[in-house]
Amino acid sequence: MIPGIAGDPPVYLNGEFTPLSQAKISVLDRGFIFGDGIYEVVPVYGRKPFRMAQHLARLARSLEAIRIPNPHGTAEWRELVGKLIDTSDAQDQFVYLQVTRGVAKRDHAFPAQVVPTVFGMTSPFARPAAALREQGVKAVTMPDERWLHCEIKSTSLLGNVLARQFAADRDALEVVMFRDGYLSEGSSSNIWVVKDGRLVAPQKNHLILEGIRYGFIEEMASAKGIPLEMRPVSQAEVEAADELMLSSATKEILPIVSLDGKPVGSGRPGPVYARLRQGYDEAIAAL
Ligand code: PMP
Repeated sequence: MIPGIAGDPPVYLNGEFTPLSQAKISVLDRGFIFGDGIYEVVPVYGRKPFRMAQHLARLARSLEAIRIPNPHGTAEWRELVGKLIDTSDAQDQFVYLQVTRGVAKRDHAFPAQVVPTVFGMTSPFARPAAALREQGVKAVTMPDERWLHCEIKSTSLLGNVLARQFAADRDALEVVMFRDGYLSEGSSSNIWVVKDGRLVAPQKNHLILEGIRYGFIEEMASAKGIPLEMRPVSQAEVEAADELMLSSATKEILPIVSLDGKPVGSGRPGPVYARLRQGYDEAIAAL
């Protein structure tokens, strides 16, 4: 038994569906040896993928950035995601897709002849609990100690893993990271600041992962007439925010009500969060 995974669900590996316990890769897989791969997490609501086109476009961008030929066209990826959803009874799921450079003799440089390893699985998705949505979550600040290609959704996640553990060790859900005094993102989420009714977020560049929810919140802000500024955000601005929020596929949008033990704004989820949360729930209900 693998901790946290019930039973032996089917997973996809290199063209075949097998029970999780039977899915094996070589220890020479470059994903295992070097973290030489990329991944995606697609949320599924009522058995329908949410923003699949955007997720598949980001998957393609990540592959291109690390020069792994995309093993599938969009239609094939969509078909695979559909088959993964069908392996589970859960209404809400998240589908995980991973592509590594493949198996080769250990050498840092790209091997000449190598076939990418393609892995996919789905897990039941417990949407963020009402307590988190209504009362908000705690976060702590830390320096961003990761590399300079955070726009790639790389499986080399050690920096993110250590950051998330930094939060867990302090009984917080997430970190808010700063590079050279400016906001980057969370360990596995984008971070949003509200000041005087305006939404502020770091611009999309190599210092953050462009979350699929980043684009979604951008669209919602525009539709709801919430002014949005994408620009460098100083640590002082984050600390003086009226509201803070995080967004990710698995956390959706959550209000951060405590930062380093101090209340954010009123210490309660704020009005801009409430409007975005409503928009999020409406979009899911309309799927
Ligand atoms: N930044 C990082 C580092 C992440 O891991 C994630 C979660 N994938 C995000 C941002 C948010 O991206 P998304 O909205 O696509 O989940």
